[in-house]
Amino acid sequence: MLKENLTAVEERIQAACSRAGRDRSEVTLISVSKTKPVRALEEAYGLGVRVFGENKVQEIRDKYEALPKDIEWHMIGHLQTNKVKYIIDKVKLIHSVDSMRLAEVIEREAEKHNRTADILLEVNVAQETSKFGLKTEEVLPFYEEAIRLPHVNVRGLMTIAPFVDNPENNRSIFADLHKLYVDIKEKNIDNGTVSILSMGMTNDFEVAIEEGATMVRIGTAIFGARDYGKQGVFSGKRV
Ligand SMILES: *Cc1c(COP(=O)(O)O)cnc(C)c1O
Repeated sequence: MLKENLTAVEERIQAACSRAGRDRSEVTLISVSKTKPVRALEEAYGLGVRVFGENKVQEIRDKYEALPKDIEWHMIGHLQTNKVKYIIDKVKLIHSVDSMRLAEVIEREAEKHNRTADILLEVNVAQETSKFGLKTEEVLPFYEEAIRLPHVNVRGLMTIAPFVDNPENNRSIFADLHKLYVDIKEKNIDNGTVSILSMGMTNDFEVAIEEGATMVRIGTAIFGARDYGKQGVFSGKRV
């Protein structure tokens, strides 16, 4: 099942790239394995998957220990400042930075580990009150402040679009984020480090690719529906 799902997702990514006149190599697939047991990730690993997305610090820690070390872990969920220290040396990219306080803690922890941390700024393009993220107009000033942090590299932008029946309804959101991304790239303050636009999930990744996504985060289409019941805690928010 996993194998067929991966093949189907890959074909859809390729088709979306072709439609947009983009090369497949411009888009990184992040397999979102949150809530899934280690054996599901091992199976994906066996099929060649090396890039996983998780949204909980504890889950990243557990899975990091249990799985091979050539995996790239992406932190895609809301990150509390007091938990940065647990994942700073384990994740390749933090997608969800939306406060200067968090950026400063990442700076401190990265310095302790004698490394630089790659981050994305999460933008709440749709201005949904239930979601984390910067407002569109906050992004440029935030970026200009964040790039002063010597152990933090702002690599780009991320958004979680609203859950919609018709993915076309999210096209303008993706287009808006792409425009903001190009604006920041053109500032070129950091000389080319801005090169990541993380947008698109199971429901809308093809539209996101057509609008310029360089990373898509896909869970359900690869691993199947998530069972939050087993986890015990479910906030009621779409996570
Ligand atoms: C869960 C999650 C995804 C994947 O969602 P699917 O709809 O299952 O593809 C992507 N991004 C973030 C931030 C998530 O929390």
